[in-house]
Amino acid sequence: MNTRSETEVINRPMFIEGVWCGASDEGQLDVIDPATEATIAYVPHATTEDVDYAVKAARRALTNPSWRDMKPLAREALLHQLANLLEENADELAKLETQDNGKPISLSSQVDIPFAISIFRYMAGWSSKLEGASIPISFPGSEFHSYSIREPIGVVGQIIPWNFPLVMAAMKLAPALAAGCTVVLKPAEQTPLTALKLAELIEQAGFPPGVVNVITGPGETTGAAMVDHPGIDKIAFTGSTAVGKMIAAEAAKTVKRVSLELGGKSPAVVFSDADFDLAIPGAAEAIFLNSGQVCFAGSRLYVESKSFDKVVAGVADLASQFKLGPGCEPDTQIGPIISARQINRIDQLLQQGVSQGAEILTGGKRHGKQGYFMEPTVVAGAAPDNALLREEIFGPVLTVLPIDDLAAIPTLANDTTYGLAASIWTQDISRAHSLARQINAGTVWINCHGVIDPALPFGGMKQSGYGRENGRHALDLYTELKTVCVRI
Ligand code: NAP
Ligand code: MG
Repeated sequence: MNTRSETEVINRPMFIEGVWCGASDEGQLDVIDPATEATIAYVPHATTEDVDYAVKAARRALTNPSWRDMKPLAREALLHQLANLLEENADELAKLETQDNGKPISLSSQVDIPFAISIFRYMAGWSSKLEGASIPISFPGSEFHSYSIREPIGVVGQIIPWNFPLVMAAMKLAPALAAGCTVVLKPAEQTPLTALKLAELIEQAGFPPGVVNVITGPGETTGAAMVDHPGIDKIAFTGSTAVGKMIAAEAAKTVKRVSLELGGKSPAVVFSDADFDLAIPGAAEAIFLNSGQVCFAGSRLYVESKSFDKVVAGVADLASQFKLGPGCEPDTQIGPIISARQINRIDQLLQQGVSQGAEILTGGKRHGKQGYFMEPTVVAGAAPDNALLREEIFGPVLTVLPIDDLAAIPTLANDTTYGLAASIWTQDISRAHSLARQINAGTVWINCHGVIDPALPFGGMKQSGYGRENGRHALDLYTELKTVCVRI
């Protein structure tokens, strides 16, 4: 059901080469509030022609002296200025994020927006710290002076998902701009509003026109046109593994650089010696934060058998107590799922899992008459081939399993095509570090889950993708290394 919202539905143009514009064929997309199912805005459906225009604008900006020759400290200051403007507009951004994505206002105002700002702050400093090296060589005959320099990779196409819209935009844009690249950014069609607000602030901060272009439209058309475009040097993508594979295959045709942050099926392992006051709420938050729509969600909970009943009862208890509701209500802890399509997919996977023998301990149902609300759900008794253990659900569904043989933990934890993250809950330091080495995941948390920081590298192993965002390694995604060798 698509209804019009009672307040005026606003047209939000996109931002190309410093100009606010609609699609060349005037096509539009509805932006939906998932708590009410009402249309809250229209955004342009960028055509292939619009993508081409944006890419060419980014290419012009790349060689425009006002950007190319900007001193590193000036670029750093510009990124800090953008962070200042984000701070000044934090309340509006949080409300917009909650309306567009559905997440609780407590989450958007205390996590999403401050974290996005901190990424710009952290990355700003790298603008002036991109050093090469002076390299001694052994080539016979002469003396040489050799060195390496890091140059911007060029025009970057960035495609991001809907679960943390502004955070994703910041994780993509900030390192690319620090490196001196120019960007065409496409937010997810479900959540374009904070990226467009960000474009407004980018304009206000004084970035030269064309350095950042924000275009809106669906992945299958607008996104695919970006991946195809020969004028884009690199695609940075966050989203599903299925789409990531398609992008890597397409990008190979023009040997575009690609970095991929994909899905996950992350294990949380709780030992009997864990501090349960930490581990029980920690395991619950690991899966239910943002209604489970988190790439690093701890969706498989392994508990040492002798503590299984206690831990599972504790987690299920918390799950049943979370307050579900529209994100705009201040006491809401769990907001809606992003879309009808997504909640139907969660429903289907749950039914499939139950038909394969899993048992629902709590939750399992949709909630309310309006909006896409899903109860936090805990499931037990899933066999190793159960869909609930194999598929990324991207919803508030936790599968719990007892472990009898502690030696089997690495094998169980690694029994997935994914390798994004894991958490280990124990007070035994040696055991924790030893297991951290044996789990194939880009991030392993010990006695915590979901600690994401601008300084900490984040990314996947196996089919969770390649490349590391955040931290100094994010700059590797947006720079080329050039070698210069001089005969003296
Ligand atoms: P998705 O369908 O892969 O979409 C992600 C982005 O890719 C969206 O902007 C989408 O556009 C675009 N897209 C879709 N098809 C495309 C194509 N053929 N060519 C180019 N772009 C295309 O994923 P989703 O369902 O929105 O998001 C959930 C998934 O993202 C989950 O699997 C989750 O694990 C993953 N995710 C991973 C991370 C991470 O850091 N590893 C973070 C967040 C989410 P439209 O949506 O506008 O059509
Ligand atoms: Mg929306």
